[in-house]
Amino acid sequence: MLTQQQQLKYSRQILLKKIGEQGQVALSNARVLIVGVGGLGNPVALYLAAAGVGKLFLVDGDIIELSNLPRQILFSEQQVNNNKADAAADKLQQQFPETEIEVIDEMFDQELADYYLNEVDLVLDCTDNINSRYLINKLCVQSKIPLIIGAATGFDGQHLMVDPHDDNSACYHCLYPSSEKAPANNCQTAGILGPILAIIGGMQALTAIKYITDNKIPTNQLSLFDGLTNQWQQFTIKKNSQCEVCAKETTMQPPLNKH
Ligand SMILES: [Zn+2]
Repeated sequence: MLTQQQQLKYSRQILLKKIGEQGQVALSNARVLIVGVGGLGNPVALYLAAAGVGKLFLVDGDIIELSNLPRQILFSEQQVNNNKADAAADKLQQQFPETEIEVIDEMFDQELADYYLNEVDLVLDCTDNINSRYLINKLCVQSKIPLIIGAATGFDGQHLMVDPHDDNSACYHCLYPSSEKAPANNCQTAGILGPILAIIGGMQALTAIKYITDNKIPTNQLSLFDGLTNQWQQFTIKKNSQCEVCAKETTMQPPLNKH
């Protein structure tokens, strides 16, 4: 049930037939974990809190650096050297007091996953390195938690949703079985522009909202964005039946309902 205040506040979302009051209630009950509160995690957390997501878990062990500010739009110069998850939570809590925020000021690892993945409906990978991406993918597949992956470097970005509830859903490891073929996402060496992160982070937040509100998400769809030509390209990827991460996992258990 929404309060009168919530009805008013979220009225433009509720007006959307594919969201409605039911969708808004689902958003307020949703628990979403965001790994990486940098260039992608900033817009993702901002849009999900603004949309009325009930609880956000922000995971980041990094501190804010001056060179982060042109794209990590939640942070100010006064917050340089503060922990990113902590600083983002401060800002979001002021702006969206309805959203509960839990700060995890550490790097994501197996131990955190064991504890937190049971607590959430959805994970968003907003990290900037390939090792984290493989790890998060593996842990989400093992725990059967849907994962929305975003990545960006230079003028390019990519987006992929992995849904372990769907036996045919390819995972990140199916797409890049070895790290040599995966894009080396390193903004320190390649550079990056804020709006590219806003576009990819916006796409991740949109997918998250659609997922939570029970709208259809295209599976096995890799979306690539080229910020120089402003073009999106969609590729259909296939689940690798030999994938060492997801192939054996999906045969062990039947698909679960997501809530
Ligand atoms: Zn796989």
